[in-house]
Amino acid sequence: MSDLTALVFNIQGFSIQDGPGVRTTVFLKGCPLSCQWCANPESQVFRSDIIHVPSTCVHCYRCVSFCTKGAVKLPDKIGDNPVFDHDTCVTCENQDVCEHACYEGAIEKVGKPMTVDEVMDVILHDEPFFSNGGGITVSGGEPLMHPEFLEELFSECQENYIHTAIETCGYVAWDKFEPVLRYTDLALYDVKHMDPAAHKELTGVSNELILDNLRRIMDETNTEVIIRIPVIPGANDTNENMDATARFAKEIGAREIHILPYHRMGMGKYTGLGREYPLGEDVESPSDERMEVIRDIFRSYGLICKIGGTEKGDS
Ligand code: SF4
Ligand code: SF4
Repeated sequence: MSDLTALVFNIQGFSIQDGPGVRTTVFLKGCPLSCQWCANPESQVFRSDIIHVPSTCVHCYRCVSFCTKGAVKLPDKIGDNPVFDHDTCVTCENQDVCEHACYEGAIEKVGKPMTVDEVMDVILHDEPFFSNGGGITVSGGEPLMHPEFLEELFSECQENYIHTAIETCGYVAWDKFEPVLRYTDLALYDVKHMDPAAHKELTGVSNELILDNLRRIMDETNTEVIIRIPVIPGANDTNENMDATARFAKEIGAREIHILPYHRMGMGKYTGLGREYPLGEDVESPSDERMEVIRDIFRSYGLICKIGGTEKGDS
């Protein structure tokens, strides 16, 4: 029995995009980065939150009266969405009631504390479907913001011969990271930019710790690594940056790279959270031809490079 908990905002069964085979992906809340293109902005805050779902909202404005904190206001124009004050919602003790008070399901609570045992129950239930080398992937947010939880969860998975993977930005102190890696079969490891200043501008943090940790995983652990690079036009997609990334990957002994074309699928969630989309709305997905040029840069270093590969929503 374990009392350790983490804030889980989704558990997705039958996933085929978060590592090898058929997997169950557990999404934990909280991230130390704030990437401008993040497709899961609801994952970033370390507390449970409320998201408004405009596609099901019928603009009845019942929420304005049932919120006792005054955190929902009428819009300027009737027929527009109600306006939520999310700074108040994240500290509100009535989120569960609030979620159910909207008859249309247009208010969703994001984030529920779950124990290791509760998550294990889901994993063991799904285990018969983990075909073709499948297993569990823990994603986020940044899963390593919950290192003790992860260590215990993965240890139990390995006791049950279940393959373990993390999707990580790598921004965590090594003394928290290393104990988790003892039970991690595969790290899907994001490298977003090789230049520290550009990395900071795009994600809010510099990249030194991320690159140091990646090098240490390769040198000091048995965890398999796949490096994943989100390709964001105008942000990190120059030939120079891709070449620098390929050189670094080769130097540390990495074998496999997945390049993930930018998409706008998370854009609507920013509206639901009352936030602006930080990257701007004009950025288009890279063309197939451009992705092939980037793939060839990595292949020219003798690296295996796949377009898409195993994908994470916020990469
Ligand atoms: S969120 Fe729900 S309660 Fe609020 S206006 Fe929309 S449908 Fe009505
Ligand atoms: S979560 Fe709390 S503060 Fe936010 S709208 Fe619901 S009742 Fe109001």
